[in-house]
Amino acid sequence: MEKRQELYAGKAKSVFRTDDPDKMVLVFRDDTSAFDGKRIEQLNRKGMVNNKFNAFIMTKLQEAGIPTHFEACLSDTESLVQSLDMMPIECVVRNVAAGSLCRRLGVTEGQELNPPTFELFLKNDALGDPMINESHVESFGWAKADDLAKAKELTYKVNDVLKALFASGGMILVDYKLEFGLFKGEVVLGDEFSPDGCRLWDSETREKLDKDRFRQGLGNVVESYEEIGRRIGMEFPS
Ligand code: UDP
Repeated sequence: MEKRQELYAGKAKSVFRTDDPDKMVLVFRDDTSAFDGKRIEQLNRKGMVNNKFNAFIMTKLQEAGIPTHFEACLSDTESLVQSLDMMPIECVVRNVAAGSLCRRLGVTEGQELNPPTFELFLKNDALGDPMINESHVESFGWAKADDLAKAKELTYKVNDVLKALFASGGMILVDYKLEFGLFKGEVVLGDEFSPDGCRLWDSETREKLDKDRFRQGLGNVVESYEEIGRRIGMEFPS
């Protein structure tokens, strides 16, 4: 599939049009950003690791019956995906309190959340991705009520699949962010799933293995992403 014009460059990925209007190419770059893009660094191998990680997870999710836009890896850092009409919202599920939840509600990091929480954020960099609720989504037309309900159902289903997968590798899935879009009327998981967009802790030591290593300056960021992958059965080229 020929990669054509660049459609969009995000903080860590670029999106290219192809000669098929229904397909796009995602290019995973080494760029890593935090704090709304205020800190950006290049981390060697991160594009490759996240591309392969995302492909592995998306395939697991598809096998579990969750529709995703992922089609195939094209190279170490590129993947072919379906072109979705994206909902401008982020769906976040939390199994354990961390990050913005602790800042917002003053709760202690590490508190178990049972049942897991479901939160929505508007994708809007200028506003700092504000938290919104389901009625905002409907009233402002960001998604139809039944499409949002489907996205929420799929977000929870992803939790069942991935909590078990990461537990098998001795890790706790603390929280994660998903984005959905429509493909020919069907709600489909888009964007990516990588350690950039979730929190994973070692089950025993509670060591942070995800992007919080970058946010908090803990070091060995990409090495830790590869360790997560290896623990769930992935292999990376040396
Ligand atoms: N997240 C993300 N992109 C965003 C905001 C959050 O991938 O723009 C992920 C983040 O990595 C974490 C989860 O969503 O796994 C919940 O993030 P939180 O609301 O705690 O915000 P943060 O502390 O990352 O600012």
